[in-house]
Amino acid sequence: MIYFDHNATHPLLPSAREAWVAATEQYIANPSSPHRLGDRADRALTGAREELSDLLGCLTHEIVWTSGATEANNTAIAHLAGAQKGVALVSSIEHPSVLAAVRRYFPERHQLIPATANGEIDLEWLQDALKRTEAACVIVMAVNNETGVILPVSDVMHACMERKIPLLCDAAQWIGRQPVKGLGELPLVTGSAHKFGGPPGVGFLKCPYALRPLIVGGPQEEGRRAGTENLPGILSMLGALKSCLDETQKHDFLTERYRFQKEFETELRRLVPGVTILGESSSRIWNTTAVIMPPARDSRQRWVVKLDRLGLAVSTGSACSSGKEEPSHVLRAMGIPKDEAGRALRFSAGINTTQAQWQALLDGLCQAASELV
Ligand code: PMP
Repeated sequence: MIYFDHNATHPLLPSAREAWVAATEQYIANPSSPHRLGDRADRALTGAREELSDLLGCLTHEIVWTSGATEANNTAIAHLAGAQKGVALVSSIEHPSVLAAVRRYFPERHQLIPATANGEIDLEWLQDALKRTEAACVIVMAVNNETGVILPVSDVMHACMERKIPLLCDAAQWIGRQPVKGLGELPLVTGSAHKFGGPPGVGFLKCPYALRPLIVGGPQEEGRRAGTENLPGILSMLGALKSCLDETQKHDFLTERYRFQKEFETELRRLVPGVTILGESSSRIWNTTAVIMPPARDSRQRWVVKLDRLGLAVSTGSACSSGKEEPSHVLRAMGIPKDEAGRALRFSAGINTTQAQWQALLDGLCQAASELV
């Protein structure tokens, strides 16, 4: 099976597995325990916090370990709702872990930043809203998980800074694929290990404020998140992140990966007429191509099922919205009609995906098209 669903989850990288095994052998105690073994685990936890903050470019105590990006987004949003007056301005193409948390914690006081047809956010709308509204916070993701469109986070940050409005940036689809250094300059950032080859169930929130915890209990994480820290998971996440950074920092990595994507898209358009590439004119990340396939002769036939039979694992939208028939909120926000959205496919490569695998995907799509269209 050839795997093109890394935005849903990236298989565990060898460095992550090794770090996890080593951690379970070396650190057998609870980091909060009073004995030397506890202290040893606690020092490893602090070391990991130092390493991540160093990579992101922020202060060590700003890192809060969580169970993933969903928890990190919920924590940040619940905190902002309690701490800030005014309206949350939230991009309409955020992940459900942001949008659902906003609906819960800012029920009567949020506005959605409209998306454009090419999958960006309407920056003018946001700038205008910042002038006319008392904003509690702004929430804009780094890269959209369904289309791969890169959002103008640094422009948004400057607009927010002028007015001292906190900005939350979900960077789950950015980390491990693009340089992470500048992320530490953003006030609130969330990330998830399993999106870049670490294990599922671990992530972080970068936050400069004293935080009201979402999960209460013990005094871990300086009272910002209760529960024994997942030390093997955290060390494994760092193992994965360092491998990804080593790889993506190689001088021609990004050029080469953008070339794989470009060649795939050019050939797909040539060989399967009627394909639309989503966010084509926008700046996109190298690993994600989302398309609307042409209509099948028999509308009950599904591209994703056909591709699965041909040995290709692809997605129809975000993993969180697959399985339900409604078009995804991202495609709806981009104004894509329901019948077209039903033919959307997302191909997402990983750090080790080769050109031969992109070619196999293209061959599979041509084969599927010859049978369906
Ligand atoms: N944000 C984005 C942009 C995502 O793609 C995902 C995963 N689908 C999440 C948040 C949720 O991450 P996690 O699985 O770590 O809860």
